[in-house]
Amino acid sequence: MDLLKQKINNDGVVLSNSVLKVDSFLNHQIDPVLMKAIGEEFAERFRLDKVTKILTIESSGISPALMAALTLGINVVFARKRKSLTLVKDLYSAKVHSFTKNETSEISVSKNFINENDRILIIDDFLANGQAALGLLNIVEQAKAEVVGIGIVIEKSFQDGGELLRNKGIRVESLAQIAALEDGEVKFKEEVLA
Ligand code: 5GP
Repeated sequence: MDLLKQKINNDGVVLSNSVLKVDSFLNHQIDPVLMKAIGEEFAERFRLDKVTKILTIESSGISPALMAALTLGINVVFARKRKSLTLVKDLYSAKVHSFTKNETSEISVSKNFINENDRILIIDDFLANGQAALGLLNIVEQAKAEVVGIGIVIEKSFQDGGELLRNKGIRVESLAQIAALEDGEVKFKEEVLA
């Protein structure tokens, strides 16, 4: 997705060989024009899949997921990282190890919002080692719902998550695929293959 790649090139900050900071448009400040385009792109890619609900994880998955849900005319549910006082029982929970924070936390979703009739599209901001996606897949499995695929804004293809999920037969659609973060530069997959 060219608009996203331009934004990554112009505003992304390569923090190390494995971490890209995109605080100025996705992870802290949010660019609504870009989010709208991202939502429309996800909606287009999954338009024929009869998605009934989008599942994401707080907080950075919410804005792209919301825009995709708006375009598809369905609701979005986000997994919470902390249990709220009003959400103590009847939860699906899964453990997720965070790549950026290097800590394991429990994510949870109310049983009220996903059921066995749902066809779920999972959306997240980044795909690194796939732990967040696996946690969300685990929750969908507990609800006996079906996963139609996973939509990722930025996939770091040099990490294991994409292969791990695709080897499970899951459709993963990434709007930008980064082959390497080297010398402060972002190298997209197409550039490396060209
Ligand atoms: P995974 O679970 O696939 O290992 O990592 C994905 C999660 O970690 C995403 O939800 C995202 O919040 C965070 N993450 C992973 N890599 C990066 C990165 O390079 N930059 C930022 N900003 N977040 C990342």
